[in-house]
Amino acid sequence: MKYPPVKNFINGQFIAEGNRDKLKVISPVDGTLLSEVPMSLSEDLDKAVIAAKAALKAWWKTPIKERVQVFFRFKTLLEKNKAELAELVSEENGKTLEEAVAEIEKSIELTEFACSLPQLITGELLDVSRGIECRTEHIPLGVVASIVPFNFPSMIPCWTIPNAIALGNCMIMKPSEKVPLSVGRIAELLKEAGLPDGVLSIIHGNSTIVEAICDHPDIEAVSFVGSTKVAKIVYRRATQNYKRCLALGGAKNHLIVLSDAIPDMTAQNITASMSGCAGQRCMAGSAMIAVGQVDHIIEKLCEKAKKIVPGQNLGAVINKEAKERIENYITEAEKMGAKILVDGRNTIVKGKEQGTYIGATVIDFVTPDMSVAREEIFGPVISIMRTQTLDEALLIENANPYGNAASVFTQNGPAARYVIENASAGMVGVNVGVPVPREPFSFGGWNESKFGVGDITGKSSIEFWTKLKKSTTKWNPQAGVNWMS
Ligand code: NAD
Repeated sequence: MKYPPVKNFINGQFIAEGNRDKLKVISPVDGTLLSEVPMSLSEDLDKAVIAAKAALKAWWKTPIKERVQVFFRFKTLLEKNKAELAELVSEENGKTLEEAVAEIEKSIELTEFACSLPQLITGELLDVSRGIECRTEHIPLGVVASIVPFNFPSMIPCWTIPNAIALGNCMIMKPSEKVPLSVGRIAELLKEAGLPDGVLSIIHGNSTIVEAICDHPDIEAVSFVGSTKVAKIVYRRATQNYKRCLALGGAKNHLIVLSDAIPDMTAQNITASMSGCAGQRCMAGSAMIAVGQVDHIIEKLCEKAKKIVPGQNLGAVINKEAKERIENYITEAEKMGAKILVDGRNTIVKGKEQGTYIGATVIDFVTPDMSVAREEIFGPVISIMRTQTLDEALLIENANPYGNAASVFTQNGPAARYVIENASAGMVGVNVGVPVPREPFSFGGWNESKFGVGDITGKSSIEFWTKLKKSTTKWNPQAGVNWMS
């Protein structure tokens, strides 16, 4: 085992709980056994919540300008430890080192945003009547939880940790059992940055802990990022227990290509969108809709896809089950009459035979009834459907149950605007394959890609992680009398 067994992080200490079931943590890169992760029990969560409640009052009462100093220091530590963190992310998740470095850089940007919260959180104040003022303040919720998926072991925890904690909350983090290592390093760096013990705890585990979080009477709010199936379970269970919940789910993102699109740039963007992070991004372009004659762009797309080399500029998918699932999707589409233009099945990387790689795959003549057209594949696969008009393309996009992202490739301004207005997605791109809004803009989809109100990052997250206090005050009895006095 390359690293020691993973431990929970409670009250500023890594704690080995006795007698817990363990899962192996295996690197998708080459099958190396990295570590093992405990499947915690609800009593372990209880300890973390007790520590969080003990830390809450002092943290809550610390002025926000002081609280964010921890994140200024954390940002510097992320920069200093970027290479080491990126290596860990790549090892446990399977993405390339270059992608992992970009993930840490995004974690840094998210932390920078948290550092700016004192500038953004100011309340409102108004003389609403003679001598009477109303004022609003954003108050922390208390103990909150964040449940995260495997595909961004550092960035997605940094969607929630900096903002929620800078806003005065104490957080219980539940990492993915598939990638439990990077979050531990984040906790260490936060401790080094001066985060008081108990403000952040990490509880490893599976659905048992997620259910315990949703049921825990002392946890005020739950944020979740993962598949739609589990997002629905978590949203239902947390809200049934009267908690605030924001649950982000899966996606099926459509890239609409019009015949006037700039060929090379379009092909490059689509290739990067479908194959970046081995297609394991909730913003990955997964379905392309070719409107009219765009064969010249599809040709270029195939040329570029063939140049992607697994194990070099294409990382691994998370595990053997994922590889098998993705390959089955491709085979099923082929059986139903789709044409595999570039085939990434049966990929083995020399020297990394136990790694779980799939080559970039381009499937043409897909019809909307095929599962590759309807379902999230979460692998480096693009399914091409063909339509005659933009309206037909939008009908296909609108009919999909998800709503994270949609993009259009064109030089026609009105057509681009038409897609922005009519795509049923929370994040829309024009000539951009992965339209992730950068800070301070917020991240969040629509439909079955998100349950709950508001977004998880950016300014919108302030509303999620705080509650508004409205106070009405009068200090000057001479100020005058009217119906409000
Ligand atoms: P997942 O839903 O399997 O797991 C997410 C978390 O839920 C993990 O921490 C896991 O331990 C827990 N979990 C799993 N099954 C559970 C159950 N039955 N009950 C309670 N908890 C359970 O997701 P994943 O495979 O880790 O991640 C990939 C998915 O996440 C994809 O669908 C992807 O689109 C989605 N995702 C969405 C976004 C977004 O912003 N919308 C971002 C990243 C990933």
